[in-house]
Amino acid sequence: MSELEAVAKEIAACHRCELSKSRNLTVPGEGNPNAEIVFVGEAPGWYENQQGRPFVGPAGQFLEELLRSVSLKRSDVFIANVVKCRPPQNRDPLPEEIEACSGYLERQLAAIRPKLIVTLGRHSMAKFFPPGKSIRELHGTTCMKNGVLCYAMYHPAAALHQPSLKRTIEQDMLKVPKLVAVASSVVRGEETPEEKPSQLSLF
Ligand code: URA
Repeated sequence: MSELEAVAKEIAACHRCELSKSRNLTVPGEGNPNAEIVFVGEAPGWYENQQGRPFVGPAGQFLEELLRSVSLKRSDVFIANVVKCRPPQNRDPLPEEIEACSGYLERQLAAIRPKLIVTLGRHSMAKFFPPGKSIRELHGTTCMKNGVLCYAMYHPAAALHQPSLKRTIEQDMLKVPKLVAVASSVVRGEETPEEKPSQLSLF
């Protein structure tokens, strides 16, 4: 059994937080185990809780559109969430739920060793970017975390609630291929200056 399979199996049996009581299915994440890019969303919603797969509802359809816009398919990348079980009524995950789940995402990332982590939404961003700035300020910017290039985007669902964000999200996605190329030239494990978010000068 691969490490990713082992993590998924542990998640399926997990009772580390209260979300385990109300979930239908756990949603460990899925995709290419050797992906160069990992997309990290927030938490499963209604559809994901039914199917046990990430981003299969309306936000997922938009994510697939975004992937297509840069010639990627779901199977090229790995898609995961910060929290692996659905919060009731789609409320935000609580800090203790995020904390209880954090080891799973860390192990998934350690197994995949992506070149680029794309954070979708503010809870995911908060795991990788230094605190203190809003997603409005940080979307479209990068930081280094544990030697991996991270890139902040709005959550695809934001475009569904706030259509004016759709174009911004689409434009942010168009930068992803170049970022992967940049990441390839970054030495793994290299310490970067203070791991600060930055606007890449390439664009
Ligand atoms: N929103 C998320 O953050 N993750 C999913 O898997 C689905 C919707």
